[in-house]
Amino acid sequence: MTAPEPTSARVRLRPEIAALPPYRQGRPAPANGFKLSSNENPWPPVPAVERAIAAAAAEVNRYPDATALALREKLAERFGVTPDEVLVGAGSVSLLAQFVLAAAAPGDEVVYSWRSFEAYPGLVTVAGARSVAVPNRADHGHDLDAMADAITDRTRVVIVCSPNNPTGVAVTRDEFERFMGRVPDDRLVLLDEAYAEFVRGPEAVDGRELLGRYPNLVVLRTFSKAYGLAGVRVGYAIGPVGILDAARATAIPLGVTAVATAGALAAIEPEAEAELLRRVAALVERREGLRDALVAQGWPIPEAQGNFVWLPTGERTVEVAERLFEAGIVARAFPGDGIRVSVGETESVDVLLRVLGELVEPSQ
Ligand code: PMP
Repeated sequence: MTAPEPTSARVRLRPEIAALPPYRQGRPAPANGFKLSSNENPWPPVPAVERAIAAAAAEVNRYPDATALALREKLAERFGVTPDEVLVGAGSVSLLAQFVLAAAAPGDEVVYSWRSFEAYPGLVTVAGARSVAVPNRADHGHDLDAMADAITDRTRVVIVCSPNNPTGVAVTRDEFERFMGRVPDDRLVLLDEAYAEFVRGPEAVDGRELLGRYPNLVVLRTFSKAYGLAGVRVGYAIGPVGILDAARATAIPLGVTAVATAGALAAIEPEAEAELLRRVAALVERREGLRDALVAQGWPIPEAQGNFVWLPTGERTVEVAERLFEAGIVARAFPGDGIRVSVGETESVDVLLRVLGELVEPSQ
């Protein structure tokens, strides 16, 4: 008897899913180098957060509370909404997928700006929907007019990322409100504010000011960046109850762990949060210093409102990323387009400025 073919060769998978590239994570940093490729917070957790996580870890024989009620209550209090208007997810990327699944069926369209967060195209494909990627403006910000123009009868979701990953540009409050005035209110708008706490631009949109004002708007935030909890996976969405209920239904049950919610709750206790926000302020100062110095070198760096800067390296992207790697810096390269460098350890700034100072070209 001949052996059967390995089943993996025969199993009929969705071809568009089998063709999806895996989610990219930068290579590990070389010894004494710096991993600046994932917009992570360079500090380990504050002691109170570490203790809360350890305490939760001691009870992992039990399932978590499926709705993360304690965390929703705390978040609701600070945002002036009810706990039902808050949805907690296993990172905001998980929530994005849940909302897209809740609103977009096969054949429907999801509009977003491009280049933007790398996960968007994949989660739209998983929903069976079609991506409508609208090019960023020349200043690397969203072209919200063009995005509004791109809305058709099939559009079910529009994703706005502010500040935009990877370019760093924030949408202004005025631009966003004008845009919302053009979006039919039966289409879901997701305002992805993963980097909100790093924003210092006075004109930037702030989801907190918009809560309760639009029946079709959901604001997404995360504990991964400013709060330094990327490893435990916890993010949240604030918006109308009916939309959140639908997104709850598309989640895989019990995806948010007790360890994650314990870490998040400890991180927003006053003393821990004060320290975490001091760290955010230090990163913002570092970002401004890095950006100013790169601009002085001649790099055309766009506005940087996240914990990262964007180098528009175009055709030189792979070469520049390789030179950075040789100097110990792992950055996120988008071949043919640019390089995103996270603002991390103080010492990494000197290395960046030294290497990039040698590589700048007047034509850039
Ligand atoms: N949105 C944006 C714009 C991001 O850059 C990221 C993380 N890179 C996320 C969402 C997801 O963050 P998390 O799932 O860790 O909350």
